[in-house]
Amino acid sequence: MPLVLNVDYAEKEEAKAKGARWNAELKTWYAPNRKSYPAFSKWIFESFSSGLIVLDSYKVVEADMYCPACDSPTVVVALSFDNYMTFAEPASNVPLPTSVKSNGFSDIVECSDNLVPFSDLRDYPLGLSEHLSTTYNIRGAEVDDNYKSRLTNHCTGCDAPILDEVLFDSEGPFEVGADPNDFECEEHALSSDFIIPNWYE
Ligand SMILES: [Zn+2]
Repeated sequence: MPLVLNVDYAEKEEAKAKGARWNAELKTWYAPNRKSYPAFSKWIFESFSSGLIVLDSYKVVEADMYCPACDSPTVVVALSFDNYMTFAEPASNVPLPTSVKSNGFSDIVECSDNLVPFSDLRDYPLGLSEHLSTTYNIRGAEVDDNYKSRLTNHCTGCDAPILDEVLFDSEGPFEVGADPNDFECEEHALSSDFIIPNWYE
């Protein structure tokens, strides 16, 4: 499963020598398979100092709740996945998470119990945001420090935004310790793996 790389034109020969491939349709370089990801750490760490790479597939996890604004029942969703690896840029004065090896990457973990807010994503797998907006009433609303719109759940009744602070709060359906396997979910295969920034364990 490939991973898209952010390679400057000036560095294309270097990336190519390390085994990066070119996708002419998407006009981007990519790492050809998961074993090769550590070889491209230079470009991954340039964009993200730490994070988690979702491998192979992801799940949209559904929960029922009452809308905080209008009190009618609504469906809200979060992201889950089975296989992943974490990474963190090795820096002399910062201890690495124990799962991360000296090359900056962890082994592959299978059977994750992570539940992640969609607003934590910066780049979305192909087709995901369209699917979420047509199927679940989740779309860009909350705006972050970089003025990027983050995907946010909305009530299916009154259309009020339901923020991730509420959903992942101790009273919310996705509270800490909630098990993704307890919820209805739909699994989607990935045509390329994707990174959730600043997320590791
Ligand atoms: Zn509502």
